Amino acid sequence: MTSWWLAEEAPPLPSSSFEGRSEVAIVGGGVTGCSCALALAEAGVRVRLHEAREIAGGASGRNGGFALRGAAPGYDEAREQLGVERAQALWRLTERALDRIEELAGDAFRREGSLRLAADVEERGALEAEFDALRADGFAVEWIDELEPPLEGRYFGAIHHPPDGALQPARWVRRLAALAAEAGADIRERSQVHSLDALEGDQIVVATDGYGGSLVPELDGTLWPTRGQVIVTAPLPERIYARPHYGRGGYDYWHQTPDRRLVLGGRRDRAPDLEYSDEEQTTPLIQDELDRFAAELAGASVTIERRWAGIFGMTKDRYPLVGPLPGDDRVWLSTGYSGHGNVMGFACGRLVAESLLGRPDPILEPFDPARALG
Ligand SMILES: Cc1cc2nc3c(=O)[nH]c(=O)nc-3n(C[C@H](O)[C@H](O)[C@H](O)COP(=O)(O)OP(=O)(O)OC[C@H]3O[C@@H](n4cnc5c(N)ncnc54)[C@H](O)[C@@H]3O)c2cc1C
Repeated sequence: MTSWWLAEEAPPLPSSSFEGRSEVAIVGGGVTGCSCALALAEAGVRVRLHEAREIAGGASGRNGGFALRGAAPGYDEAREQLGVERAQALWRLTERALDRIEELAGDAFRREGSLRLAADVEERGALEAEFDALRADGFAVEWIDELEPPLEGRYFGAIHHPPDGALQPARWVRRLAALAAEAGADIRERSQVHSLDALEGDQIVVATDGYGGSLVPELDGTLWPTRGQVIVTAPLPERIYARPHYGRGGYDYWHQTPDRRLVLGGRRDRAPDLEYSDEEQTTPLIQDELDRFAAELAGASVTIERRWAGIFGMTKDRYPLVGPLPGDDRVWLSTGYSGHGNVMGFACGRLVAESLLGRPDPILEPFDPARALG
């Protein structure tokens, strides 16, 4: 089943198709591909984007709608793994990307902050470490020691991240695609690419995250397709959750739409082996978990109006793979955000465009696919 987000009617894309050769061909019409197409088209490049389904038909229109700064690992981990300067630069980059999303997305984005919750003493320790690191490096962040009902007694402390927000992700990415088309990008929906060799273009950008399948065989065993499942309820009587909430290392996440629907997902850890899958379908086990959790969060039984699944790409170190495919400089990858691609994908799509325009940003160096594929 398609997602609640994608079920909203899509306005027609402005027509901007051109005949003949493109300079850059992009595979994938999610947030990464559309962001890359917009940046290239604005720079006057003849760019053609191929999307097998519809714009945002992959993870970009099926996700939880959390727009968070940073990468999949926490900030304190990133400082250790990437070094303080690079971690700081990366977090700042994603904060600027959030500012840009706010400028472009209109009513598809609500900048409400987010709450990262501690489900036990161990997670509270991890959150305190991340909070200390963020504060030490001058980022806006608040510690919440005691949560109010109905979260009191269930969670034991939280970080409030003020720059974050919530998206209607399909509406947002459709807008991004429309901006790219208005700037001159040739956006082709229902245009499946069967082989990169068949594509025209001096450069090719593969922006397929968890959906690439066998398009780049080198990624087999390096980029793991991972399934996420989500539900949305009928409107609740009250808006209990004013901003996105996530806890248990991101295995539980939810927020409430302005019309008071609870959007809730996660619980992948209940069946980890089964959820490393590229099958875009819900399963009774995870859905039962989500149903129970929705009722607990609402404090009453709830009506589920839609259920769906989506696939994202996971990497071993949970940082994305962004850069040229080793041994083939014609092909660039921007993929593998490990479940954290709404803001990172937007930022990386633009950074890939900048690299192709001869303006590489050193911030991409740690994401070089050669670290995993070389
Ligand atoms: C259930 C779920 C919840 C998530 N929640 C969040 C969240 O709350 N916050 C967050 O930041 N991230 C979240 N993510 C991750 C986030 O959605 C992704 O990282 C992000 O959308 C990736 O965008 P993308 O453009 O790179 O890839 P996608 O949006 O997946 O787009 C790839 C596109 O490539 C197309 N494609 C694939 N193969 C071909 C081909 N051969 N030819 C043509 N087209 C092709 C696909 O149809 C697809 O539309 C979630 C993901 C899922 C699945």
